[in-house]
Amino acid sequence: MEKLSHPQVTIEIIKKYGFVFQKKYGQNFLIDEHVIQKIIRSAEISEGDTVLEIGPGIGTMTQYLAESAGKVIAVEIDRKLIPILEDTLAEYENVTIINEDILKLDLEQLVKEENQGRPVKVVANLPYYITTPIIMSLFEHHVPLDSLTVMVQREVADRMQAGPGSKDYGALSLAVQYYAKPYIAANVPPNCFIPRPGVGSAVVRLVRYDESPVAVKDEKLMFRLIRASFNQRRKTLQNSIANAGNLNISKQQVLDALEKMHLSPNVRGESLSLAEFAMLSDILSEN
Ligand code: SAM
Repeated sequence: MEKLSHPQVTIEIIKKYGFVFQKKYGQNFLIDEHVIQKIIRSAEISEGDTVLEIGPGIGTMTQYLAESAGKVIAVEIDRKLIPILEDTLAEYENVTIINEDILKLDLEQLVKEENQGRPVKVVANLPYYITTPIIMSLFEHHVPLDSLTVMVQREVADRMQAGPGSKDYGALSLAVQYYAKPYIAANVPPNCFIPRPGVGSAVVRLVRYDESPVAVKDEKLMFRLIRASFNQRRKTLQNSIANAGNLNISKQQVLDALEKMHLSPNVRGESLSLAEFAMLSDILSEN
Protein backbone atom coordinates (compact mmCIF):
# COMPACT_ATOMS: atom_id res chain seq x y z
CA MET A 1 0.00 0.00 0.00
CA GLU A 2 1.13 3.55 -0.71
CA LYS A 3 1.98 5.59 2.34
CA LEU A 4 -0.93 7.36 4.07
CA SER A 5 1.27 10.41 4.58
CA HIS A 6 0.45 11.30 0.96
CA PRO A 7 -2.69 13.44 1.31
CA GLN A 8 -4.34 11.75 -1.67
CA VAL A 9 -4.00 8.29 -0.07
CA THR A 10 -5.50 9.55 3.20
CA ILE A 11 -8.43 11.12 1.32
CA GLU A 12 -9.02 7.86 -0.60
CA ILE A 13 -9.09 5.80 2.61
CA ILE A 14 -11.49 8.23 4.27
CA LYS A 15 -13.81 8.06 1.26
CA LYS A 16 -13.53 4.27 0.92
CA TYR A 17 -14.69 3.75 4.52
CA GLY A 18 -17.05 6.75 4.68
CA PHE A 19 -15.10 7.84 7.77
CA VAL A 20 -16.45 10.88 9.59
CA PHE A 21 -13.96 12.86 11.72
CA GLN A 22 -14.92 13.02 15.39
CA LYS A 23 -14.09 16.37 16.90
CA LYS A 24 -14.65 14.98 20.40
CA TYR A 25 -11.70 12.61 19.88
CA GLY A 26 -9.34 15.35 18.67
CA GLN A 27 -8.90 13.73 15.25
CA ASN A 28 -6.40 15.64 13.11
CA PHE A 29 -4.48 13.22 10.91
CA LEU A 30 -0.95 13.91 9.73
CA ILE A 31 -0.46 14.27 5.99
CA ASP A 32 3.17 15.34 5.86
CA GLU A 33 5.89 12.76 5.42
CA HIS A 34 8.69 15.13 6.49
CA VAL A 35 7.03 15.77 9.84
CA ILE A 36 6.57 12.04 10.45
CA GLN A 37 10.20 11.35 9.57
CA LYS A 38 11.27 14.12 11.92
CA ILE A 39 9.24 12.53 14.74
CA ILE A 40 10.73 9.08 14.08
CA ARG A 41 14.26 10.51 14.01
CA SER A 42 13.74 12.52 17.20
CA ALA A 43 12.36 9.44 18.96
CA GLU A 44 15.60 7.56 18.11
CA ILE A 45 13.77 4.34 17.36
CA SER A 46 15.66 1.20 16.46
CA GLU A 47 14.80 -2.45 15.84
CA GLY A 48 15.29 -3.33 19.50
CA ASP A 49 12.53 -0.93 20.61
CA THR A 50 8.90 -1.45 21.50
CA VAL A 51 6.82 1.63 20.78
CA LEU A 52 3.52 2.54 22.38
CA GLU A 53 1.53 4.72 19.99
CA ILE A 54 -1.42 6.58 21.49
CA GLY A 55 -4.17 7.27 18.93
CA PRO A 56 -2.94 5.77 15.63
CA GLY A 57 -5.88 7.25 13.66
CA ILE A 58 -5.85 5.55 10.25
CA GLY A 59 -2.29 4.33 10.85
CA THR A 60 -0.30 7.07 9.12
CA MET A 61 2.57 7.28 11.59
CA THR A 62 2.14 3.62 12.59
CA GLN A 63 3.34 2.56 9.12
CA TYR A 64 6.66 4.34 9.71
CA LEU A 65 6.92 3.16 13.32
CA ALA A 66 6.37 -0.46 12.24
CA GLU A 67 9.24 -0.14 9.77
CA SER A 68 11.69 1.23 12.36
CA ALA A 69 10.76 -0.50 15.64
CA GLY A 70 10.78 -4.16 16.70
CA LYS A 71 7.20 -3.92 17.89
CA VAL A 72 4.38 -1.35 17.97
CA ILE A 73 1.42 -1.34 20.36
CA ALA A 74 -1.20 1.08 19.06
CA VAL A 75 -4.10 2.11 21.33
CA GLU A 76 -7.08 3.72 19.57
CA ILE A 77 -10.37 4.72 21.25
CA ASP A 78 -12.53 5.08 18.11
CA ARG A 79 -13.89 1.66 17.14
CA LYS A 80 -14.74 2.95 13.64
CA LEU A 81 -11.00 3.23 12.99
CA ILE A 82 -10.23 -0.41 13.86
CA PRO A 83 -11.28 -1.98 10.51
CA ILE A 84 -9.39 0.81 8.71
CA LEU A 85 -6.24 0.12 10.76
CA GLU A 86 -6.56 -3.61 10.05
CA ASP A 87 -6.53 -2.74 6.35
CA THR A 88 -3.81 -0.05 6.29
CA LEU A 89 -1.47 -2.03 8.58
CA ALA A 90 -2.20 -5.48 7.13
CA GLU A 91 1.34 -5.96 5.83
CA TYR A 92 2.99 -5.24 9.20
CA GLU A 93 3.17 -8.25 11.50
CA ASN A 94 4.77 -6.39 14.38
CA VAL A 95 1.77 -4.16 15.16
CA THR A 96 -0.79 -4.91 17.89
CA ILE A 97 -3.95 -2.77 17.74
CA ILE A 98 -5.91 -2.25 20.95
CA ASN A 99 -9.35 -0.62 20.86
CA GLU A 100 -9.37 1.20 24.22
CA ASP A 101 -9.32 4.54 25.95
CA ILE A 102 -5.67 5.14 26.87
CA LEU A 103 -6.73 6.74 30.17
CA LYS A 104 -8.61 3.59 31.21
CA LEU A 105 -5.94 1.04 30.33
CA ASP A 106 -3.64 -0.39 32.98
CA LEU A 107 -0.47 0.57 31.11
CA GLU A 108 1.89 -0.92 33.63
CA GLN A 109 0.19 -4.30 33.12
CA LEU A 110 0.17 -3.82 29.33
CA VAL A 111 3.92 -3.10 29.26
CA LYS A 112 4.49 -6.14 31.49
CA GLU A 113 2.55 -8.39 29.11
CA GLU A 114 3.71 -6.95 25.80
CA ASN A 115 7.31 -6.03 26.63
CA GLN A 116 8.19 -8.13 29.70
CA GLY A 117 8.13 -4.95 31.78
CA ARG A 118 11.03 -3.39 29.83
CA PRO A 119 10.64 0.33 29.15
CA VAL A 120 8.80 1.35 25.99
CA LYS A 121 9.12 4.48 23.89
CA VAL A 122 5.91 6.48 23.62
CA VAL A 123 5.36 8.16 20.26
CA ALA A 124 2.12 9.97 19.46
CA ASN A 125 0.33 12.74 17.69
CA LEU A 126 -1.76 13.28 20.81
CA PRO A 127 -5.45 14.13 20.88
CA TYR A 128 -5.24 17.74 22.11
CA TYR A 129 -8.27 17.58 24.43
CA ILE A 130 -6.46 15.19 26.81
CA THR A 131 -2.75 15.93 26.31
CA THR A 132 -2.13 16.92 29.93
CA PRO A 133 -3.98 13.99 31.60
CA ILE A 134 -2.20 11.51 29.30
CA ILE A 135 1.29 12.85 30.06
CA MET A 136 0.64 13.25 33.79
CA SER A 137 -0.81 9.76 34.10
CA LEU A 138 2.08 8.13 32.20
CA PHE A 139 4.55 9.73 34.59
CA GLU A 140 2.62 9.52 37.84
CA HIS A 141 1.71 5.84 37.42
CA HIS A 142 5.35 5.05 36.79
CA VAL A 143 4.67 3.28 33.50
CA PRO A 144 8.07 1.90 32.42
CA LEU A 145 9.11 4.27 29.65
CA ASP A 146 12.35 5.59 28.17
CA SER A 147 11.08 8.65 26.43
CA LEU A 148 8.01 10.35 25.02
CA THR A 149 8.05 11.99 21.62
CA VAL A 150 4.72 13.68 21.16
CA MET A 151 2.94 16.21 19.00
CA VAL A 152 1.11 18.74 21.16
CA GLN A 153 -0.30 22.25 20.80
CA ARG A 154 2.53 24.77 20.61
CA GLU A 155 1.14 26.46 23.72
CA VAL A 156 1.33 23.19 25.70
CA ALA A 157 4.94 22.70 24.56
CA ASP A 158 5.72 26.18 25.94
CA ARG A 159 4.06 25.29 29.25
CA MET A 160 6.23 22.18 29.57
CA GLN A 161 9.40 24.23 29.31
CA ALA A 162 8.31 27.25 31.41
CA GLY A 163 9.92 28.27 34.70
CA PRO A 164 8.75 30.34 37.72
CA GLY A 165 7.49 33.83 36.92
CA SER A 166 6.39 33.00 33.38
CA LYS A 167 2.66 33.12 32.52
CA ASP A 168 3.00 29.61 31.03
CA TYR A 169 4.35 28.14 34.28
CA GLY A 170 1.99 25.68 35.99
CA ALA A 171 1.35 22.16 37.28
CA LEU A 172 2.24 20.65 33.88
CA SER A 173 5.63 22.44 33.81
CA LEU A 174 6.49 21.10 37.26
CA ALA A 175 5.31 17.54 36.60
CA VAL A 176 7.18 17.31 33.32
CA GLN A 177 10.39 18.83 34.71
CA TYR A 178 10.33 16.56 37.78
CA TYR A 179 10.34 13.44 35.60
CA ALA A 180 12.00 14.44 32.35
CA LYS A 181 14.01 16.90 30.36
CA PRO A 182 11.79 18.51 27.71
CA TYR A 183 12.92 19.95 24.41
CA ILE A 184 11.06 21.07 21.31
CA ALA A 185 12.15 19.05 18.29
CA ALA A 186 10.01 20.82 15.65
CA ASN A 187 7.27 23.35 15.08
CA VAL A 188 4.45 22.08 12.90
CA PRO A 189 1.95 24.34 11.09
CA PRO A 190 -1.79 23.51 10.75
CA ASN A 191 -1.51 22.62 7.04
CA CYS A 192 0.32 19.38 7.92
CA PHE A 193 -2.97 17.88 9.19
CA ILE A 194 -6.36 16.96 7.86
CA PRO A 195 -8.60 18.57 9.05
CA ARG A 196 -6.45 21.59 9.95
CA PRO A 197 -6.36 22.37 13.68
CA GLY A 198 -7.02 25.95 14.76
CA VAL A 199 -3.63 26.22 16.50
CA GLY A 200 0.05 25.65 15.78
CA SER A 201 1.64 22.42 17.00
CA ALA A 202 5.05 21.27 18.16
CA VAL A 203 6.88 17.97 18.54
CA VAL A 204 8.22 17.66 22.08
CA ARG A 205 10.71 15.09 23.23
CA LEU A 206 10.78 14.17 26.90
CA VAL A 207 13.62 11.95 28.04
CA ARG A 208 12.95 10.44 31.43
CA TYR A 209 15.53 11.09 34.16
CA ASP A 210 17.01 8.03 35.86
CA GLU A 211 16.82 10.13 38.99
CA SER A 212 14.83 13.35 39.34
CA PRO A 213 16.93 16.54 39.73
CA VAL A 214 14.94 17.20 42.93
CA ALA A 215 14.59 14.85 45.90
CA VAL A 216 11.30 14.81 47.81
CA LYS A 217 10.09 12.52 50.61
CA ASP A 218 6.44 12.34 49.57
CA GLU A 219 5.98 12.79 45.83
CA LYS A 220 2.17 12.52 46.08
CA LEU A 221 1.96 15.29 48.67
CA MET A 222 4.21 17.53 46.56
CA PHE A 223 1.95 17.14 43.53
CA ARG A 224 -1.17 17.76 45.64
CA LEU A 225 0.43 21.00 46.85
CA ILE A 226 1.36 21.95 43.30
CA ARG A 227 -2.17 21.29 42.01
CA ALA A 228 -3.73 23.26 44.88
CA SER A 229 -1.40 26.21 44.23
CA PHE A 230 -2.23 26.44 40.54
CA ASN A 231 -5.95 25.68 40.90
CA GLN A 232 -6.19 29.07 42.56
CA ARG A 233 -3.36 30.77 40.78
CA ARG A 234 -4.16 34.35 41.82
CA LYS A 235 -4.36 33.48 45.52
CA THR A 236 -1.46 33.42 47.95
CA LEU A 237 0.04 30.02 48.64
CA GLN A 238 -1.27 30.01 52.24
CA ASN A 239 -4.84 30.53 51.00
CA SER A 240 -4.78 28.14 48.06
CA ILE A 241 -3.30 25.30 50.16
CA ALA A 242 -5.58 25.91 53.17
CA ASN A 243 -8.62 26.02 50.82
CA ALA A 244 -7.78 22.71 49.13
CA GLY A 245 -10.30 20.09 50.25
CA ASN A 246 -7.95 17.11 50.04
CA LEU A 247 -4.98 18.48 52.00
CA ASN A 248 -6.08 19.25 55.54
CA ILE A 249 -3.27 21.78 56.04
CA SER A 250 -3.95 25.03 57.92
CA LYS A 251 -2.85 28.54 56.96
CA GLN A 252 -0.63 28.64 60.03
CA GLN A 253 1.18 25.46 59.00
CA VAL A 254 1.87 26.97 55.58
CA LEU A 255 3.03 30.25 57.15
CA ASP A 256 5.43 28.40 59.48
CA ALA A 257 6.84 26.44 56.55
CA LEU A 258 7.28 29.60 54.46
CA GLU A 259 9.11 31.25 57.34
CA LYS A 260 11.50 28.31 57.59
CA MET A 261 12.14 28.68 53.87
CA HIS A 262 12.74 32.46 54.21
CA LEU A 263 9.87 33.16 51.81
CA SER A 264 7.31 35.97 52.06
CA PRO A 265 3.97 34.98 53.73
CA ASN A 266 2.23 36.45 50.67
CA VAL A 267 4.11 34.43 48.10
CA ARG A 268 2.10 32.80 45.28
CA GLY A 269 2.69 29.29 43.94
CA GLU A 270 3.63 30.67 40.52
CA SER A 271 6.90 32.06 41.91
CA LEU A 272 8.10 28.82 43.57
CA SER A 273 10.62 26.61 41.79
CA LEU A 274 10.40 22.82 41.72
CA ALA A 275 13.08 22.62 44.43
CA GLU A 276 11.05 25.01 46.62
CA PHE A 277 7.87 22.95 46.20
CA ALA A 278 9.88 19.88 47.22
CA MET A 279 11.19 21.68 50.30
CA LEU A 280 7.71 22.93 51.23
CA SER A 281 6.36 19.40 50.86
CA ASP A 282 9.13 17.94 53.05
CA ILE A 283 8.50 20.51 55.82
CA LEU A 284 4.71 19.99 55.71
CA SER A 285 5.04 16.19 55.68
CA GLU A 286 6.83 16.36 59.02
CA ASN A 287 3.70 17.77 60.66
N1 SAM B 1 -1.74 9.27 14.85
C1 SAM B 1 -2.71 9.75 13.87
C2 SAM B 1 -2.02 10.73 12.94
O1 SAM B 1 -1.00 11.27 13.33
O2 SAM B 1 -2.53 10.94 11.84
C3 SAM B 1 -3.94 10.38 14.52
C4 SAM B 1 -3.67 11.50 15.50
S1 SAM B 1 -5.13 12.33 16.08
C5 SAM B 1 -4.44 13.88 16.57
C6 SAM B 1 -5.45 11.62 17.69
C7 SAM B 1 -5.94 10.17 17.69
O3 SAM B 1 -6.16 9.78 19.05
C8 SAM B 1 -7.26 9.94 16.99
O4 SAM B 1 -7.16 8.81 16.17
C9 SAM B 1 -8.26 9.71 18.12
O5 SAM B 1 -9.37 8.91 17.75
C10 SAM B 1 -7.38 9.05 19.16
N2 SAM B 1 -7.85 9.21 20.55
C11 SAM B 1 -8.54 10.23 21.09
N3 SAM B 1 -8.77 10.03 22.39
C12 SAM B 1 -8.20 8.84 22.72
C13 SAM B 1 -8.10 8.08 23.92
N4 SAM B 1 -8.65 8.51 25.06
N5 SAM B 1 -7.46 6.89 23.88
C14 SAM B 1 -6.91 6.43 22.71
N6 SAM B 1 -6.96 7.11 21.55
C15 SAM B 1 -7.59 8.30 21.54
